[in-house]
This record gives sequence, structure tokens and C-alpha cells, in this order.
Amino acid sequence: MEGGATRHLLTDVDPGLAIVSFVAAVATAFVALEIAARALRADAPQRRRLLIVSGLTMGCGIWGMHFLAMLGLEDSHGFSFRIDLVLLSVVFAAAGSTISLSLVAQPRVTRSRVFLSASFMGLAVSAMHYTSMAGIRSDASMTWDVTLVVVSMVIAYAASLLALGSVASMQGENTEWSPLGRLGAATSLGIAVAGLHYTGMAAVTFGPAPPGSTGTGLDLGSSALATILGLGASVLLLVVTIDGSRHKRRAEMAGDLAIFARVSRDIGRRGDARTTICVAAQELIGCDVAMLFEPDGDGRLVARAWSGDAGPIQVDVAEGRSIAGDVLRTARRRFIPDMQVIAGTDRAVIERTGVVSVVIEPVLLDERSIGVLLCGWTSRISAPGERRLAISALLAAESAVAIERADLVARLREQALVDGLTGLPNRRALDMALDQGVKRADRSGQPFTVAMVDVDRFKAFNDTYGHPEGDRILAEIAGAWRAELRGDDIVGRFGGEEFLLLLPGVDGQIAGSVIERLRSSMPTEVTCSFGVATWDRVEGATTLVARADAALYAAKVAGRDRVVVG
Ligand code: GH3
Ligand code: MG
Ligand code: MG
Repeated sequence: MEGGATRHLLTDVDPGLAIVSFVAAVATAFVALEIAARALRADAPQRRRLLIVSGLTMGCGIWGMHFLAMLGLEDSHGFSFRIDLVLLSVVFAAAGSTISLSLVAQPRVTRSRVFLSASFMGLAVSAMHYTSMAGIRSDASMTWDVTLVVVSMVIAYAASLLALGSVASMQGENTEWSPLGRLGAATSLGIAVAGLHYTGMAAVTFGPAPPGSTGTGLDLGSSALATILGLGASVLLLVVTIDGSRHKRRAEMAGDLAIFARVSRDIGRRGDARTTICVAAQELIGCDVAMLFEPDGDGRLVARAWSGDAGPIQVDVAEGRSIAGDVLRTARRRFIPDMQVIAGTDRAVIERTGVVSVVIEPVLLDERSIGVLLCGWTSRISAPGERRLAISALLAAESAVAIERADLVARLREQALVDGLTGLPNRRALDMALDQGVKRADRSGQPFTVAMVDVDRFKAFNDTYGHPEGDRILAEIAGAWRAELRGDDIVGRFGGEEFLLLLPGVDGQIAGSVIERLRSSMPTEVTCSFGVATWDRVEGATTLVARADAALYAAKVAGRDRVVVG
């Protein structure tokens, strides 16, 4: 290089070589996109491998284009390359391309991801070019036109954005990257690479800077260039990290919603979803124990459901002596970092579960406190955090629905088996108990006796004293007999003024004495006739009852107010 003369690299570029280098860049970009498209359809481990291969391919394409275009310039300009910076430039190209393609080869790509991906591609292309330029060893000084440097990077970014935006737009549940679409994207990438390269070349001038031409010219040393690129890469990495954590949060939220959906479904489907809620609380909040307490009507809170093996626990709700009771009364949530210090009668909870920190949520139904949801940790936490509190509040609201529904189901179930007038088991309950009685007697070898009972001349009683008085007598008989019978014995209302007695483990003779007790305990206004039958160890429940009925008929025929054994 002659002293004082300035030379542009661009003037010495071989046009044929420029075309070849551009085609090579497009071709490798096309292949890289094909591999990335395959990664899109692959499973996790293979997907990662394919993405790396696709990034390496793209990186090599960028690098190859650059050095193809540089061919021959070393000789005409008398410079050489520093090998370390050349290698570093390949690393930049490959790493940037890999990150860029990984961001965009996803089943669903947001717009911000496309911009991020384009930033990495632009960075890969720019970093590659300018690192290798910084590695030029020459006697002459290199002067950079900063405007052109910026323009070159803008071209690289814009063309990358066009390429990656077009592949992202090809994505959908069932669509793939079409070859034509990939060719278009690859051409854009080629433009990004070539555009940056040649604009970058135009930005550099060799030789001493001519006086007066300082206008936009600025001597940009290689260390300054490296610093700028390093800063750019750091900012992008920071953005990727933040973006990644946002994605993680979104995934976490999707998981939360799935658990909530399960809770709602269980509340709808199951008779009692209390346990589902406790288990969900443990999963969602990440606590060690979750329990649902409800008042027992006797001044205590009773655990009606729990996660894991926390087991049944009772807590007094006496004024000022229990935190759980306090939450129930005030309907205000409490967070206690250390229960050991202030526990009153909640000590039972600590002893059974070993919890240290707890959140206790009131369970409100129409602004009425109907229970508390306790979420406990066995090691101390200083604060539950907003997410956990939001979830515990939501689950407490779900608990109210679950409790109300479970109570309703329990009431309906009870009503379906209980006679309204007398409170005794109804016909349906008796049928079930009869079957069970026969089966049990069969298994145990014990006797099983039944008695059909009918109130004597009850029609006449009604006619004389009125139907309501008749009702009262029926209820009185029921109350007296229920009080008289022991644990296993059952008396139910068979229908109208007829009752059925089931006496498991009782033979005909003992049945006689039981019935005498019942006769003497009943209201004196009326009498009853009894037909008794003891299971013959062969017949079915229906035949057994039919025999008792026949015996009852015999008792009526014989004059009523008596016991006949069939
Ligand atoms: P018997 O001694 O032959 O059994 O005479 P009875 O009058 O009791 O027999 P009948 O079957 O003719 O009449 C049964 C009566 O029981 C008719 C009905 O008024 C009365 N009864 C049935 N269910 C009820 C009820 O729930 N409440 C009242 N008050 N009476 C009832
Ligand atoms: Mg009758
Ligand atoms: Mg009768």
C-alpha cells in the first residue's frame, strides 16, 4: 500500500465471486431452515440436536460467504487474518444462528419472539463480520464510517426479520414450512449476510485518513468494535432470559388452571370434593399440609378433610384461644410465620402435622363463615407471597361451594332413606337392610328374625280422633320402639300404619320377648298385631317377609293385639 493513498476494499471485489458467495449463503440458509423445520416436528432430545445442527449450518453459511467474498483481497491489500479472531467469528455466527433458529422453530411463536430471533440472527451476521474484520492484520490504518456500519447492521437485522417472520407465519397446528417459503426465507437470509458484508466493506477505508474527510469517518478500533458487539450480545441474552422466565410463568399458570379445572370438575361430579380441594391446595400452594376445618356445633372446629395423612384433628374455637377459631369468627385471613410461638388450642395441629408457618383462610358462604382452610409448612416461611395467597383465597371460595354441595348431597341421601313422619328407615332402606340381614345371617350362621307389625283398627282411630292425631300416634310408636331397641335391631316404616322389625342374631323365642317389650312401651291408645318369621336359612328376603305377613294376617284373624309366629 502506497503511503498517503486510501483504498476501499469494495473496489477490488470480484463480481463473479460475489455472486457465488451470495448463492452459497442462500443455499446453506435453505438447508439450515430445512433442518430447523425437521426439529419442529421432532421429540425433545432429537429436537435439540437438530436445532444445533441447523444453527451450525447457518453459522458456517455466514462464515463461508464472508471468506469467499474476501478471497483474493488479502493479496491485493497485503493483509492477513488473526486466527483467534477468525475462530471467534465462527463461534459468534454459529451461536447466534442456533439461538435465533431455536427461538423461531417452535409450535407457537409470538411476535416478540420473532423480533428476538431476528436480533440474534442480525447479531450473528454482524458479529461474525466485524470480528473477522477486527482480525485483519495490516500495516495500513483502517478507518470506519460509523453510519455505514450502522446501516449494514440494520440491513442484516431487517432482512433477518423478513426471513424469520416469514417462516414463523408458516407455522400453525397442522402446517409445515413449505419449500418455496423456505427458499424465500433463505434468500432473505442471503440478503442479510451479503447486505451486511458489502455495506460493511464499504464502511472501511485503508490507509491514512485524508485530511478534511473526517465528516462521518471515525476511527473505530477493534477493541471498541468488540465492546459494542459484546454489549449487544449481553442485552439480547438478558432479553432471552426474561422472555424465558415469562414463558415459565405462563406454563406455571397453565398448570395451575389445569388443577383448578380438576377441582371444579370434582365439585360437580363428586358428592364430597373437600379432599380434592385439600390435595389441590397442597399441589398449587406448595405447602406440606392442607386441612379443611368446619364447626361441629359444640364450640369446636373439626378437620373434615386433609391432604396426605394429616388425619382427623379437632380445635377449640373458644374466644381468643385459637387462631383457626379467630379466622372463623372474624372471617379474616391470617398468616402466622411461626405457630410455635403463639399457638393456643391450635397446638393439636402443630403436634399432629408439625407445621410451623400457616395461612388460614376463612371459608365464606353468603358472607357467613362456614369453615377455615389451613395451609401449613413444616419449615418456616417468612411470607407466603401474592400468588399463594391468591390461590388460597380461590380455593377457600371453592371450598364453600364444595361444602354446600356435599351437605346437600348428604341431606338428599338421608332423605331418600328416611321416612318423613316417623324419622324411621323407609321402605327402601328396609329392603336394603333385609337383604343385608339375610346375607349376614348366612355368613355368620346366626339366626335372623323379622316381624311385620300393623296397628289395629287404625282407620277407626283416625275416624274418631282425626288424621293428625293418627299421625302423632304413629310418630309416638316409632319414638318408643326406637328407644327400646338395641344397636343392631332395626324398626322401619313399611308403609301406612305398618312397621317391619329386623332382629339380626335373634331366634323366634327371643324375638317374642323383644316384641313384648315393644308392646308394653307403646302408647296405650292403640294396639298392634305382630306376625313373626325366622329365616329358614334357605329362602330369600321376599319369602321371609311374605311368611311374616301371613303370620300377621293370622294374628288379625285370631282377634288382633297379639303375636303369631309363622
Ligand atoms: P286392621 O286392624 O285390620 O289393620 O284395621 P285398620 O283400620 O288398621 O286397617 P285398614 O287397612 O282398613 O286401614 C288402615 C288405616 O291406616 C287407613 C288409614 O287411614 C290409616 N293410615 C295409614 N297411613 C296413615 C298415616 O300416615 N297417618 C294416619 N293418621 N293414618 C294412616
Ligand atoms: Mg294395614
Ligand atoms: Mg291396621
